[in-house]
Amino acid sequence: MRFVQWWALALAFPIAAMPLSAQQFSRFDTQGLGWYKGNTHTHTSASDGDSPPEQVARWYKEHGYQFLVLSDHNVFTDPAALAQLADSTYLLIPGEELTTSLAKKPVHVNALNIPHAIKEQQDTTLLGTIQRNVDAVRAVSGVPHINHPNFGWALDTAVLARVERDRLLEIFNGHPTVHNRGGDDSPGLEAVWDWLLSHDRRLYGIAVDDAHHFQGEFAPDRANPGRGWIVVAASGLNAAALMEALEAGQFYASTGVVLERLQAEPGQLTVTIRPRSNFKYTTEFIGQDGAVLARVGGVQAAYALRGGERYVRARGTDSGGAMAWVQPVFVTR
Ligand SMILES: [Zn+2]
Ligand SMILES: [Zn+2]
Repeated sequence: MRFVQWWALALAFPIAAMPLSAQQFSRFDTQGLGWYKGNTHTHTSASDGDSPPEQVARWYKEHGYQFLVLSDHNVFTDPAALAQLADSTYLLIPGEELTTSLAKKPVHVNALNIPHAIKEQQDTTLLGTIQRNVDAVRAVSGVPHINHPNFGWALDTAVLARVERDRLLEIFNGHPTVHNRGGDDSPGLEAVWDWLLSHDRRLYGIAVDDAHHFQGEFAPDRANPGRGWIVVAASGLNAAALMEALEAGQFYASTGVVLERLQAEPGQLTVTIRPRSNFKYTTEFIGQDGAVLARVGGVQAAYALRGGERYVRARGTDSGGAMAWVQPVFVTR
């Protein structure tokens, strides 16, 4: 191929060459923005957590997080009472986990950056119950996210596909009984996410702790902190900038892999990983129906748009099994 003149290729493949010029990724670059690590889902003794809000907020501050949402079940844990912990490096964003169920199926919707307590909402259908909770969050200009869809095997693709006005979906939750990976006839959350993306739902995937246990033993069967988080690329550490970036998909979800830079140019998506000791890294680029489009080793991975993709997302995995999930980049035509 390299001996063929470019004009000969253009003459031979005029139609195949067209989609590349007509389709492109929506532009995005984290260069010049700050990276802010945070957890949007955690509990305190104000609901069913084992530690008071002050201690929970302090745990995250001392472990390198820049922001935290205390999301107690149907309780507004006001961060104003913890003002002594907040400073220019650490932000507490008010929140709540709207918690209800329908026919024994749990419906939990997080409310981020809300001004006061919101009442959990009930409806006669599963879809209606989710939607009413999402809408209650929007009504106070908060940002909703739908939690642990596989908890109680409650929320499948058929119902999630019909929810409106929600942009965020948990694809990793650190609680031990939420079935992130699916099993038997139930798909894992990444497969659910790809199904929704493939059916034109623009959803961004988040990782959270859903931590309840800050005391005693840290063990896989306990809901301890530090398991899943998001890192947001924003202009500053304030709730408005973080919420705007979250809803625009300008962040990644992680269980340990740290990214240096994300860059979407019209024809290429580039992921740069920050290396840690002698870990090795593999980045997979994933598209329609969860198909792995390319697999690239090393700390820098690029995917050139081939034409025909509807979205491309990336997942970096290190040699210890930790991951970073890059949000889907959509292809405009
Ligand atoms: Zn929950
Ligand atoms: Zn929870």
